Amino acid sequence: MRKKNFFAGPSVLPLEVLEKIRDQIVDYEGEGLSMIEASHRGGMFEKMYDEALSTFRRLLDIPDDYDVYFLGGGATLQFTMIPQNFLIKGKKASYVKTGSWSNKAEKDAEKIGDVEIAWDGKDINYTRIPKPEELKVSPDSSYLYLCANETIGGIEWRNFPSVSIPLIADMSSDILSRPVDVSRFAMIYGGVQKNMGPAGATFIIMKKDMLEKRNENLTAYMDYALHSKEKGLYNTPPVFSIWAVKLVLDWVEKMGGVKKMDERAEAKSSLIYSIIDSSDFFTSPVEKESRSRMNIVFRLPSEELEARFIEESKKEGMLGLKGHRSVGGLRASLYNACPMEDVEALAAFMKEFERKNG
Ligand code: PMP
Repeated sequence: MRKKNFFAGPSVLPLEVLEKIRDQIVDYEGEGLSMIEASHRGGMFEKMYDEALSTFRRLLDIPDDYDVYFLGGGATLQFTMIPQNFLIKGKKASYVKTGSWSNKAEKDAEKIGDVEIAWDGKDINYTRIPKPEELKVSPDSSYLYLCANETIGGIEWRNFPSVSIPLIADMSSDILSRPVDVSRFAMIYGGVQKNMGPAGATFIIMKKDMLEKRNENLTAYMDYALHSKEKGLYNTPPVFSIWAVKLVLDWVEKMGGVKKMDERAEAKSSLIYSIIDSSDFFTSPVEKESRSRMNIVFRLPSEELEARFIEESKKEGMLGLKGHRSVGGLRASLYNACPMEDVEALAAFMKEFERKNG
């Protein structure tokens, strides 16, 4: 029996995607060859890759003046590539600090150039997203950087700020969970290992005119212009990850697209938040308006009870409910592929746990 998977990433994949991989791992669509044995130049890989890029474009309604491709190196490599390309010498870049992932990105940018902190949630322990009027952004800053969903702290931007400078967002943990107006962003990127597939690939969505504003003299892999020209195939891409991403994208489309994913995210997360809100036993450290629908962070009255919750949930076949080691507590990640039945099982388990221990 499959476990109920609440891991924060790598995380749950649609069962039918795993089954398709199983069925085709040896012989891809009768080609007599596995997708992971094929050359990434031309042939069956490139055909599949182009289909993946088109489906991704369709799902997010990505305008034609944007590049879309996949790279390796994880989302973390982008923490360096973004400032190397776009933090213009003599200028600053602005960062919104909402938790662990935006902090890591900001720290890397500081090593490359001048950084302006547009807002920092440190004093309130990163429990909310700033209001637009709280952001301090110089009009001549190179770009404004934010993390759309802080996977560890469990806070998510509902509405993105309107700024006159390029807006760059890390959407590693909430891509494809809702419609996004891509045209408001200069760049959206993220690791695929939460809502899109197995670890390995990083998606890049970038307005083409950003390339005109980039720094020169970058080494080959660090230069977005090269990747734009080669659509991510300058060097060997993470082929297995990309193949699985293609299957996940097909699944999202078949399920009804990002609108449907949005409805599912709303239904699943409100079920768990309603249990937290209707009891004194469970508490959410996060401000209501900033709550993430992907990563639900919550606490119990004691660490002892939290440890028991994790132990007993494992016995019920539920995995990944331990909070990130840096913050403790509990966290349930409810990504796109997490079925409603698993969330209902978690809800029932929470109620029963409270009844026995509350
Ligand atoms: N950004 C966010 C929001 C994340 O959740 C993560 C990984 N959990 C990263 C960046 C880093 O991603 P990677 O491990 O692919 O480098």
